[in-house]
Amino acid sequence: MRTAEALCAKRGARLTEIRRRVLKAVWASHAPMGAYDILAGLNAGTGKIAPMAVYRALDFLMEHGLVHRLASLNAFIGCALATENHAAHFLICRGCKSATEMEGAALTRAVKKTLSAHGFVPETEIIEIQGLCAHCHKEGVPKT
Ligand SMILES: [Zn+2]
Ligand SMILES: [Zn+2]
Repeated sequence: MRTAEALCAKRGARLTEIRRRVLKAVWASHAPMGAYDILAGLNAGTGKIAPMAVYRALDFLMEHGLVHRLASLNAFIGCALATENHAAHFLICRGCKSATEMEGAALTRAVKKTLSAHGFVPETEIIEIQGLCAHCHKEGVPKT
């Protein structure tokens, strides 16, 4: 949380109450969370927050690299790196439903090189690899 606050302060972006609460909710979960799960969690007890407010907060958090959207799951996860703008490279385990962010400078370089070879200008870059994490693989999670 302090990292997020420092990052926003540095960029002159305001971490409003709703943005803070959405970020907390995403961070509290180790598995990716759908927008409606986030909304339901925040509204437990009070039920005052509109879906649009949550979507806008998520947009803000994504813009600042604090949260990533996993396209294949249509879910959100807190960024483990929370630094500069970076592409989202994730390993998604179908056994324990975890999503692990890869800190892959080498991967980023390889993608950049491939893109420039094609003269392609990226707008979003998400790499999602689905499978089993080391733990689930060892446990022998059956194929679906
Ligand atoms: Zn990240
Ligand atoms: Zn797993």
